[in-house]
Amino acid sequence: MNKKANEKGKLLVVSGPSGVGKGTIVKTLVSRRTDVVESVSCTTREPRAGEVHGREYYFLTKEEFLRRVQEDDFLEYDEHFGNFYGTPKSFVREALKEKSVILEIDVVGALNAKKAFPDCVLVMIVPPSMEELKRRLISRNSETEAEIENRLSRLEYELSQKDKYDFVIVNDEIDMAIQELEKIIDQ
Ligand code: 5GP
Repeated sequence: MNKKANEKGKLLVVSGPSGVGKGTIVKTLVSRRTDVVESVSCTTREPRAGEVHGREYYFLTKEEFLRRVQEDDFLEYDEHFGNFYGTPKSFVREALKEKSVILEIDVVGALNAKKAFPDCVLVMIVPPSMEELKRRLISRNSETEAEIENRLSRLEYELSQKDKYDFVIVNDEIDMAIQELEKIIDQ
């Protein structure tokens, strides 16, 4: 799958370790610009309180998800914690006609997306240092110590893949990081 002539936007895939601030960067950028949207993935997990079908995710049954896998409707998909998650090609294709599209997915998903859609741009957001990331993870207070340890142990693998990315942004100062991502979209 390659970019089509009628597609104006860029497909950006943003990854980075948990706690690095990628969600805030992407959401702030998308809220400031009418020509950039975040892709909405499909998942088979149950919606959490406050989540809306079509906004956070498209919530599908496992049967429906697997049917769409058969129909080749996912740019990439993966299993996390026993549930399936995938990026619908149909959503991305439609959105690219008018806008740039950002996917926020992990390293494995990002590298699969690049294989399926070589025109996509891979961007990794990294912390200024391990110590800073640890401090941020602890201060957001939403994970247990074991979860923090688990996330930090994945960090080494994620950072080791950064050479496969087109751009690496160091999130030292959030506004600067947002500007760098905007530059990548606009260049
Ligand atoms: P959550 O259930 O907490 O929303 O997400 C669980 C995991 O699924 C996260 O690591 C998230 O990045 C990943 N995820 C969400 N959407 C997609 C997707 O479309 N593709 C892949 N590969 N992973 C996804």
